Amino acid sequence: MTAAPEQVDVLNTAREQVLERGVGLSEEQVLQVLRLPDSRIPELLELAHEVRMRWCGPEVEVEGIVSLKTGGCPEDCHFCSQSGQFPSPVRSAWLDIPGLVKAARQTAATGATEFCIVAAVRGPDKRLMSQVRDGIKAIREDGNEIQIACSLGMLSQEQVDELVDMGVHRYNHNLETARSHFPSVVTTHSWEERWETLRMVREAGMEVCCGGIIGMGETLEQRAEFAVQLAALEPDEVPLNFLIPNPGTPYENYPVVEGTEALRTVGAFRLALPRTILRFAGGRELTFGDLGAKQGMLGGINAIIVGNYLTNLGRPAQDDLDMLGELSMPIKELSKTL
Ligand code: SF4
Repeated sequence: MTAAPEQVDVLNTAREQVLERGVGLSEEQVLQVLRLPDSRIPELLELAHEVRMRWCGPEVEVEGIVSLKTGGCPEDCHFCSQSGQFPSPVRSAWLDIPGLVKAARQTAATGATEFCIVAAVRGPDKRLMSQVRDGIKAIREDGNEIQIACSLGMLSQEQVDELVDMGVHRYNHNLETARSHFPSVVTTHSWEERWETLRMVREAGMEVCCGGIIGMGETLEQRAEFAVQLAALEPDEVPLNFLIPNPGTPYENYPVVEGTEALRTVGAFRLALPRTILRFAGGRELTFGDLGAKQGMLGGINAIIVGNYLTNLGRPAQDDLDMLGELSMPIKELSKTL
């Protein structure tokens, strides 16, 4: 039995358009990929892997993250256990500078090339900015040359400039979901406000890291919309999270995204974003399990976060490093990105 014509078409088209020419899929094409039957997933992942190897190369970027300020955020992102608006068990806490230096040292010891400092805030205030400045200085004084990224919410122009001055090379700010779906996920700020921060970050010369969360009630159409909206931003990196239904959040009873659906999504996002670092982020253990993580790595992913994801424990960093070894995937060298 042969597959339906439109199913053959989208992967055939992608082979020529994405693999040969490096042009990402359109919204309609992404949607077709998201609708592929399970039987075509292996073919999709194989193509996504070829695209990744062709346009990004074999290296995997490994990153560790640390939370400088946890919980108590005034915003109401419905997926987030750090929002102070929901009865989640996560309590507000600050990490001190020695703790930050230690976390950076441990991250560098895993072979990771990047260390991301994260805070659960709408945007940074003076205290947080000076904490970040002192923290980066202390990390450097410790002799640690790891690249430092930040994720501190929405920024003013002045704060963007300050971060550049501190030597922050990449800024993470997720759009989270499709523009059309955002108002049902967050009501305390808009998608456009997030976009504005990303624009300033890009113009200031920092790398842009921007992704989102799959499985927040978006339709497949909205998932495709999100993929092309991300592609339009031309981010250097897209962290792809799968919803963890955290207790106490409005999404606590949402189902976990099925492994096959998640793999289709990974493949579709790779074909929409052929040249971007696509990072496996939160939820991958829950959604994929060990086997799925490997399938994802062989299906277009080329970066991972090791260790913990802020409020959710990840599996031990060494397990992921072992997995990369088994897959013969080299970890990106720090020197190549400086
Ligand atoms: S702004 Fe960030 S930390 Fe705050 S609730 Fe939203 S996702 Fe969570």
